[in-house]
Amino acid sequence: MTMRRSIFLKNMALGLGASLMLAACGGGDSAPSATGEGGEAPDAAAAVLRVATEPAFPPFEFQAEDGELQGFDIDLMNAIGEEAGVEIQFESLPFDGIIPALQAGTVDAAISGMTITEERLQTVDFSRPYIKAGLAIAVKADNTDITSLEDLAGKKIAVQIGTTGADQAAEVDGAVISTFDSAPLALQELANGNVDAVINDAPVTLDAIASGNIEGLKVVGELVTEEFYGIALPKGSENVDLINDALMALMENGTYAEIYQKWFGTEPTELPESAF
Ligand code: GLN
Repeated sequence: MTMRRSIFLKNMALGLGASLMLAACGGGDSAPSATGEGGEAPDAAAAVLRVATEPAFPPFEFQAEDGELQGFDIDLMNAIGEEAGVEIQFESLPFDGIIPALQAGTVDAAISGMTITEERLQTVDFSRPYIKAGLAIAVKADNTDITSLEDLAGKKIAVQIGTTGADQAAEVDGAVISTFDSAPLALQELANGNVDAVINDAPVTLDAIASGNIEGLKVVGELVTEEFYGIALPKGSENVDLINDALMALMENGTYAEIYQKWFGTEPTELPESAF
């Protein structure tokens, strides 16, 4: 069991690190300078970016014991702020409140392990993809009858509300779905034996298992989906270019790779320029 888990974990890490394709991105774009380098007008973006996140999604975003935000997304967003010359102010929100907040303009952006989906693109804009992830099925460590999505028909599935995992579960025939405000709560429901499975982002489920935060679970089968996370912004936001330019600069100057290494222990690899 442990063996299988660690191989899966390793494969996942390799998959995540698959390929950061810089060459295809045109290169050479440097982040805009807040002071309007080269006589250009200063970028119209605000000097402070209010950035929403749902901080119960380790290793992407979580709170340290002292309440401070940590994680891959947090480090990346802070690095983007530094590169772009804007101050990042994080705001914690429930995951299903993030898109409404972007639409209402009460936040300027969101980084929250959020998958770029066609549906979300109807209501918000996204940065270029900044990491590859995907959904995985988790079951109790001693479960032997669920090994694939098909096996979930008619079963009890826990998911986090408003997520791609919840969308996937909704498509399973006859499944009884319980929704939770955060991924750890859904995983705990499974650990408590109240549901048969959880559909959640693989890196987060694997981290919960590997860290010992949730005990007695395993991930089964193949990844159910391949997904790319993006930074979400209000539709038509003038900050899309600012964030994309800074992200590209970090990918080119090694900062992105450093942050990736810190949280995933491997080299980052290729990412497409856009999710679709
Ligand atoms: N990646 C999933 C989604 O975008 C889950 C995100 C999350 O729970 N923070 O729906």
